[in-house]
Amino acid sequence: MEIGVSECFDAAHYLPNHEKCGKMHGHTYRVEVVVSGGLKNGMVMDFAELKEIVGKIVKDYDHNVLNEFIENPTCENLCIAIFERVKKVLPDGINIVRVRVYENPDKWAEIRI
Ligand SMILES: [Zn+2]
Repeated sequence: MEIGVSECFDAAHYLPNHEKCGKMHGHTYRVEVVVSGGLKNGMVMDFAELKEIVGKIVKDYDHNVLNEFIENPTCENLCIAIFERVKKVLPDGINIVRVRVYENPDKWAEIRI
């Protein structure tokens, strides 16, 4: 079974060598993380635990300049970075399914296993 959580954060970035996005600007990003696993006591995992994992990761980026973390912080590269970080810290028996990052309500990138 799959469960998911979402978190939002504000950050600035610029895309090196991009005509329009090469200028520093900001977005309110929204991150959705979906994980899967078997049911224990009726739960895949506690929502609070998953919210804490994702919350800690996005807190690093919140009100920061993404270029300090990712060389070319496109929505796609940010999505990959978050996917890798979440994957590393999930408890045993819980698998990452997908991460979707919205940089605007109408623009998003997604990575799946
Ligand atoms: Zn941008």
